Parts: sequence; C-alpha cells; structure tokens
Amino acid sequence: MTTVAFVGLGSMGGPMAANLVRAGHLVNGFDIASAARASAAKAGVTIAASGLDVVAGADVIITMLPAGQHVIAAWRSILPHAKKGALIIDCSTIDVESSRKAHALAKDDGLLSLDAPVSGGVGGAMAGTLTFMCGGSELAVTTARPYLEKMGKRIVHCGNIGAGQAAKVCNNMILGATMIATAEAFVLGEKLGLTTQALYDVVSTSSGQSWSTTSYCPVPGPVPTAPSNADYKAGFASALMLKDLKLSQEAAISVGATTPMGALAAQLYAMHNALGEGGLDFSGIIHLLRGKV
Ligand code: NAD
Repeated sequence: MTTVAFVGLGSMGGPMAANLVRAGHLVNGFDIASAARASAAKAGVTIAASGLDVVAGADVIITMLPAGQHVIAAWRSILPHAKKGALIIDCSTIDVESSRKAHALAKDDGLLSLDAPVSGGVGGAMAGTLTFMCGGSELAVTTARPYLEKMGKRIVHCGNIGAGQAAKVCNNMILGATMIATAEAFVLGEKLGLTTQALYDVVSTSSGQSWSTTSYCPVPGPVPTAPSNADYKAGFASALMLKDLKLSQEAAISVGATTPMGALAAQLYAMHNALGEGGLDFSGIIHLLRGKV
C-alpha cells in the first residue's frame, strides 16, 4: 500500500481523495478549510496537522487548489519536506505559466512532476470517471497512471510540462463558446416557433451537435440529467467557466494567438457572472440571452 498526500479537499479534491482511499491507499490530506477537512475525514482520509506534515512519507503528492498562486505557494512550502523520489501532481486548473513555474520548483528539489488538470466536474470526481490531461515526462505519466486510474477513466498524455493545462484551456474555450452558440440557437428556435424537442432532435443528430446540446442542453426537457432541469443548480458553475475562459485569453495573449470567439465568450460570461448567476451552471447563460437576468 502506498501513501498519497492530498492538498485541497474541496468539491473536486474531496471525492478524488475518497476514491484513492476506496482503492486501498493510505491518504493523508490537508485543507485550510475545516469543513473540507471534516468531510474528507469521514471518507477515510487521515487529516494532517498542517500543510507541511501532510507530505511526510508520501510516495505521491496531489494538489487540487483554486488557482496558480495557491499551487505555487503550496508547492514552494511542501516540496522541501517531500520524500526523495516522490512524484508531485497538480490537478488544479491554472495558467500555463504558473504550471511551468511549479514544475521548475519540483525539478530544483529533484522531484518528478506532472500537471494533470481534469474534465468531468464534481460528478466525474465522485464517480471516478474524470479525464486527466497530462503534461510532463513519460516517466512522470507512467508513475502517475496507477493513481490517476483510481480517480478517472481516461488519461491523455498531452506533451511536456504545461501541456495538460494548455489542453484544458483549449477544451474549455471550445466549451464556453459552444454553449453560448447552442443557447442562442435554442432561443432563436423558440422565437421562430420551433419546439425545444424538435430542435433538439435535429441538432443532436446533425452538424450542429455538441456536448453542450447532448449532455448539458441549456433548455429544460430533452436531456433529463442536464442542469437546466434542476433550475441550473449543480453542474459546472459559470464562475469556473469564466475562470477558464480568462485563462484561455491570458494564454492566447502570451503566444499571440487570435481567439475572438474565446474573447467574446469571456466577456459574455463576465457579464453573466456580474448579474449574479456565477454560482449556477454555465448553461444558465441562456438567461442572459433571453434578457432575463
Ligand atoms: P473548491 O474551492 O471547492 O476547493 C479548493 C479547496 O482548496 C478549498 O477547500 C480550499 O479551502 C482549499 N485550499 C485553498 N488554498 C489551500 C492551501 N494553501 N492549502 C490547502 N488547501 C487549500 O474548488 P474545486 O471546485 O474543488 O476546484 C479545484 C480545482 O479544480 C480548481 O482549479 C478548479 O478550476 C478545478 N476544476 C473544478 C471543476 C468543478 O466542476 N468544480 C471541474 C474541473 C476542474
């Protein structure tokens, strides 16, 4: 049995750590929030006294934190206390530059490192069906795989350091823009007299098809499990979509890529969040398009 240290036991990290416990690992966890510590403890995670104690004896260290500055600060403080030869994996969604900085810190301390942001949301974290987008060496991915497999279904090696974060922002930029286009089409269809079901039956089997239609249809009805059927609660929060779209725009500026659709999607989600719907699922952007927020 190997020991895993898990830092950041929030909405995603909590259930991911619980899946590692279920798979038979000894998981030492830490979070600055007492509620997150308490619920992880209930799932069998051994709560460490501090963010430094958590890495003692760990073969693998995983961080699942809000943003780049949290990851850099956490890695900077824990790396010197990590076991020699340990692997450190960051599963948070952060900017590519901070991710590369974190990898450099690990290299300075002689540790193997991987960026492995996820797709699949809280539901995927609970069910152990996440997709991991990995950036790092072949050795780092091979070493991480048995652990990532306990928390996810698909592990994609995207390239060298930072490549996982790069893939994540590209994917979510498509997702944000596609959701807006899908919501626009459903509002237009309504105004043209189409029923939601008729438009869904066409789009879901035609060239306009996407995950935004078939999994998270922004209009209630055709997809029973979509957040639109639960008053847009749960799902993937608009605030997180805005975060990822901003990351995509920072990345685009840093390499001189032209991403006008991504830029517009970021503006529309900023407006939507400012109108108070940041906590609801991102398919709720349809309210903005209907002029209802
Ligand atoms: P969350 O806010 O629920 O959890 C983050 C946790 O980190 C919190 O419990 C917080 O107390 C803790 N934390 C912050 N600083 C800390 C520190 N220095 N030491 C220890 N703990 C610390 O957020 P989440 O939804 O779990 O998201 C985590 C990451 O996963 C983010 O980068 C997010 O963008 C990404 N993500 C989230 C989703 C989702 O659907 N929620 C999906 C994909 C990716």
